Amino acid sequence: MSSTAGQVIKCKAAVVWEAGKPLVIEEVEVAPPQKMEVRLKILFTSLCHTDVYFWEGKDCGERRRGVTELVQSDHVLPVFKGECGDRAHCKSEESNMCSLLEDQHDRGVMINDEKPRFSIKGKPIYHFVGTSTFSEYTVVHAGCVAKINPLAPLDKVCVLSCGISTGLGATLNVAKPKKGSSVAIFGLGTIGLAEPLFGASRVIGVDLNPSRFEEAKRFGVTEFVNPKDHNKKVQEVIVEMTDGGVDRSVECTGNVDAMISAFECVHDGWGVAVLVGVPHKDAIFKTPPMNFLNERTLKGTFFGNYKPRSHLPSVVEMYMNKELEVEKFITHEVSFL
Ligand SMILES: [Zn+2]
Repeated sequence: MSSTAGQVIKCKAAVVWEAGKPLVIEEVEVAPPQKMEVRLKILFTSLCHTDVYFWEGKDCGERRRGVTELVQSDHVLPVFKGECGDRAHCKSEESNMCSLLEDQHDRGVMINDEKPRFSIKGKPIYHFVGTSTFSEYTVVHAGCVAKINPLAPLDKVCVLSCGISTGLGATLNVAKPKKGSSVAIFGLGTIGLAEPLFGASRVIGVDLNPSRFEEAKRFGVTEFVNPKDHNKKVQEVIVEMTDGGVDRSVECTGNVDAMISAFECVHDGWGVAVLVGVPHKDAIFKTPPMNFLNERTLKGTFFGNYKPRSHLPSVVEMYMNKELEVEKFITHEVSFL
């Protein structure tokens, strides 16, 4: 145990005092971890295009009772999704929706005592999506920590904590395109661009922003459709282009109309559409039920169905085995302080 074990650590963190206000670097106090929690030293973190934060930490400085799988100096990726290992979803092979560690986006506090571990001169500072990696030290639930290969370069694999794994898992675990199949990707951000890495021979990118098309070619997207260029529905355009529809589609924007298009553009008989983007809470998905009877399938997934502790280490191994390139997703590197 390091000399700071059980002590409050003072360090720098980027704090948002009010929604929409810029991040401010402050000195924060980071309380020691409680039951089933770990305090991490953050060496690298990342920020994605769509303002979703990716994370990476290293150096599991300290663990508390109940935490048996981590030791000091382990290299880890903190993840916004948890895996307690005990509840029904965690025991199911089919789901990563841990019911204990859901809703971290709204929580802002640790589940053990409903309090944050961060403070400034005694004033509580709330956590962000269960990880809070814009801080030199953070405290997270042990269920949100994936222990990874210590040889993996942390400045690269930190981007696997969120968007890339989401896109990858949506393809490998959920859409499962057969080799040589056709895939439509709605939304060419990080998640969308992580999709076509495997298997598909024809990849149709759909985006309202044509400036993304050139970049997307480097990621394996072969054709582009801008819905603004057509006076018919984008699903009709894709069905015509592909003689009946694509084999798989993945929706990454969260726009409900794009979700409907993504479903209606898959081929009858075998087509599978996967929803990845998070919709507005009041959005309603509407499609003629005949589309289902005609043997189209609609699925949805969070974090590509990956359980963070069980599966993320193997995603890191894919990178280590050169089966997955993450460098091309990294556009800028800046120092934290
Ligand atoms: Zn669980």
